[in-house]
Order: sequence, then C-alpha cells, then structure tokens
Amino acid sequence: MRKNVIAGNWKMNKVLSEAEQFVEETKTRIPSEEKAESIVCAPFPFLPVLVEKAKGSDLKVAAQNMHYEDNGAFTGEVSPVMLKDLGVTHVVLGHSERREYFAETDETVNKKAHAAFNHNLTPIICVGETLEQRENNETMNHVEAQVKQALSGLTEEQVKASIIAYEPIWAIGTGKTATSEQANEVCTHIRNVVKQFSSEEAGEAIRLQYGGSVKPANVDELLSQSDIDGALVGGASLEADSFVQLAEAG
Ligand code: PGA
Repeated sequence: MRKNVIAGNWKMNKVLSEAEQFVEETKTRIPSEEKAESIVCAPFPFLPVLVEKAKGSDLKVAAQNMHYEDNGAFTGEVSPVMLKDLGVTHVVLGHSERREYFAETDETVNKKAHAAFNHNLTPIICVGETLEQRENNETMNHVEAQVKQALSGLTEEQVKASIIAYEPIWAIGTGKTATSEQANEVCTHIRNVVKQFSSEEAGEAIRLQYGGSVKPANVDELLSQSDIDGALVGGASLEADSFVQLAEAG
C-alpha cells in the first residue's frame, strides 16, 4: 500500500557538471513513479539546473536543508519559497550532520516541517540515535522524542504525507549497517508512535526510510522489512549505476 521512496543524499559532493551527467545517466533508467519514488537530494547551487534536466522524467529533486522563514534578513539561508519556485519537491530536514555541525534542533526541525508544508514541499525528516544512546538502551525513547517534536502541530494529512528517515548515527558513512531487524524494530516503534500521536491511519500512511550505509548489496533485505518503506542513501548514491540499482530495488 505504501509506495517505497529511495532518496540519494549527495551531501557536499560533486560539481555541477558531474551532477548534470548523473541526472542524464539515471533519469531514464529509474523505475516509473507509479512503482516507486526516486529522489536526488542535491546541493543548493545545482537545484535549478537539475530540476530542468529531470523534467518529464520520474526523477525528483530535493534540497538537503532550508530555513523556515519565507524571506528576510537571513544571510546565507535559502527559503522554502525559493525551493518551491524552482520546482523542488522534497527537502531533507534535521539530518544528523546538520544537528551536529550546524546547531539544528528538534524545534527548528519542527518549524521547517511546518514551513515545508506551507509551501507544498514534502519533508524527509531525519531521526536517529548515537552509538552511546544505543548502548545505553535509549534508542527508542530518543527516536520517539525526536519524532513527536518534529511532527508537533502538523495536521493528520500532513503527517500522512511526511517521510521519516531513521538513520542511526553510528551507521552513517561507517560501513556499519544496522541489521534489517534492528532497523525494522525502530521503524515499527516510530509507526506506533505516529499512530498514537496522530491517528491509526496516519501511522499506516507515513513512509519510513532507513538510512546508514545502505548499498545495492543490502537494500533488498532492508526493504523487505514490514515497516521500512525506502532508503536515504549517502555514499552509495553518488555513482549513477549504484543509484539506479538502489532505485530499482524500490
Ligand atoms: P551513508 O549516508 O549512506 O553514506 O551512510 C546516509 C545519510 O547520511 O543519509
């Protein structure tokens, strides 16, 4: 019932010519939108060109962050109005790297989620625990708190349309993937939290991605789990062939 969503998070990689070539090489090879959603999350300067290049294909283009205000004196920031105007469809919010290095908090993630929906952008909201939290058995409580704060004040329809990426921080870029059971256990918990927090229907509808060292070799196993509806992929999304294989798994 839930459509899988595969998103490649390039982070701060590539230059424009490489990004254009990637879209050229992938846009006709990804599955149709009816089957699964395929998204590239690109750095801001590439967005207008990539949206133009992806037009008419099933590839969607996302931003990796944004500010929550529509406009004003916020030097260096990019607004949801700007992203929408370019034709961007999704935006990653609260990635652990932004929380760690750029002071992103649950409160700003929540403001950004509201701002995204105010401008018809779909948020991909990232949550996840540190290794220390996992070892101290704090994973479920931590992720639950992040999810509740991120979704606070959203309507049921908005919750249904949201995408949450569960990304254990210890698995990001480390080559250490959570086992599919570990990943699913947390995703099941997130779905139950959303059911209680919003509604049964919202919990059934919201899509949950796993992220953290996903690659073509482990994506099928992860996606076969009951509560995992996609993947947010960093390193393995940089090569066109690898991204296409991941997208096909969706
Ligand atoms: P990774 O990154 O696939 O390189 O582990 C995932 C992410 O940070 O979204």
